[in-house]
Amino acid sequence: MWYAKMYFSEKKEVFQFDSYGVQGVPSTYKELPFLESLLSFMEMDCDELTPSLRRIAESWERLFQDGDREAGTATMVELGQLKSWHIYLELLYVRWYDRFSRIGADIPVSPLYQRQVQRFFDLVLDVDQAGRDPQKQAAAHYLYDAPKDPELFVFHPIPLSFEPVELGRCSSVLYPLHISDMIDYSLRSCVERGITVRRCKNCGRWFPQTGRVSAEYCERPVASGQQTCREAGAFQQWTKKQSDDPVFKAYRKEYKKRFAWIKAGRITDEQFYAWSEQAREMKKKCDREVITLDEFKDWLGKP
Ligand SMILES: [Zn+2]
Repeated sequence: MWYAKMYFSEKKEVFQFDSYGVQGVPSTYKELPFLESLLSFMEMDCDELTPSLRRIAESWERLFQDGDREAGTATMVELGQLKSWHIYLELLYVRWYDRFSRIGADIPVSPLYQRQVQRFFDLVLDVDQAGRDPQKQAAAHYLYDAPKDPELFVFHPIPLSFEPVELGRCSSVLYPLHISDMIDYSLRSCVERGITVRRCKNCGRWFPQTGRVSAEYCERPVASGQQTCREAGAFQQWTKKQSDDPVFKAYRKEYKKRFAWIKAGRITDEQFYAWSEQAREMKKKCDREVITLDEFKDWLGKP
């Protein structure tokens, strides 16, 4: 019997929830890019959730103390709305009955975790502050399982299993009981896999460096039809580079001139394309410094 599973697979993370707890087909299956759940959790405004959490606690109390069945329904409805805020909150929904009896003592969503994760980023994972080796930093900042810095995230034993997750592949699988289990598992996985994080040069949000460590722009999910920061960044870089590049400028100027000749009837399409093919070859040679810029310009100036 299980209610929630979480595992990592290469560059993605997978969540499965089963509100009935009957092992089989999960009622929720969600794939996200690696670390996206934790990063969006850090960006969540906990204050906005407080009224909803308070209402849940109140109706839970009415259900228990007064046997008010309607209050039980109200709890479920409220929890159902809560889970649309963030994938972690779906855990509260599927585990509502054995979980909310303790809600007073154990506030499930608090800015404390966000602060502790932020501290972990600063000291261990941030490639620009902490360096490229999370293992080394983590080892330096913990004594056994206790952080030396009181603001730093505290690791605990988490319920991990091991099983086939995809065709022909087994992996560790987390069966979270608390939201902190999912945060814990995400952070330790970064250290184990040597994955650092960085603030995106475009949007300023954190992103994991699952690819090149020199990446400066994020690939965080965007609304469909929009460009990711990496796509937008690559284009900006390219445009900037081209406008500063004398080889490209010389090529571009001649290209435009000859393109206009087609309209004026001075050359045919075929002649133009034959020329531009040659010009690209010559530009390549110039880029590779096989010929000098002056030689390239001389060539461009020939009819
Ligand atoms: Zn970005």
